[in-house]
Amino acid sequence: MSIIDLTSMGEPQKDIKNQINNRLKKLQDEVSEFCYQCAKCTSGCEAHKLLELEPHKIVALLKRGLIDEMLNSDVIWTCMSCFKCRERCPQKVAPVEILFALKNIAVASGKPIPGKYSAMLQSILSNGLIQDVQTISDRNNQAIKRDKLNLPDLSKPVDTNKFQLVLSKLAIEKI
Ligand code: SF4
Ligand code: SF4
Repeated sequence: MSIIDLTSMGEPQKDIKNQINNRLKKLQDEVSEFCYQCAKCTSGCEAHKLLELEPHKIVALLKRGLIDEMLNSDVIWTCMSCFKCRERCPQKVAPVEILFALKNIAVASGKPIPGKYSAMLQSILSNGLIQDVQTISDRNNQAIKRDKLNLPDLSKPVDTNKFQLVLSKLAIEKI
């Protein structure tokens, strides 16, 4: 089943959206209060280096209730979910959790998902991998495949249909 099939069958999920809104409210009330804007999260953020995501600003915006502004911004989709911001924060605030909640609300509200996310989801649904196996090049620009390096084949789901069903169910339960 393609991600396009899955999303076109889906409908805006108000109950789930309410649950996520509550989670965001909890993060706003209980977590963002502890942030003292030291920006240690941002200085280690991989996406900040590449895409100007500034996790400390996400926390500040949440604290000020500027949620719609973040939902309508592309910046929420630039997080790579590396969890560095959670590890680095001296106050145990996790900007990544805020970004997860925002992304979930965006999806539950029927906002469009960036194409690269859809492609990644499609690859997971089809192969169990976030992207196809890559071929690398050596210094002479010769393509090298895994088997040439004596690397084993990557494991893939044995039963793709079952895998897709379980994944879809889990995605809905955990959203
Ligand atoms: S590291 Fe923690 S306390 Fe510092 S700005 Fe980031 S979220 Fe706030
Ligand atoms: S989880 Fe996202 S926001 Fe946090 S450091 Fe990694 S890329 Fe940045």
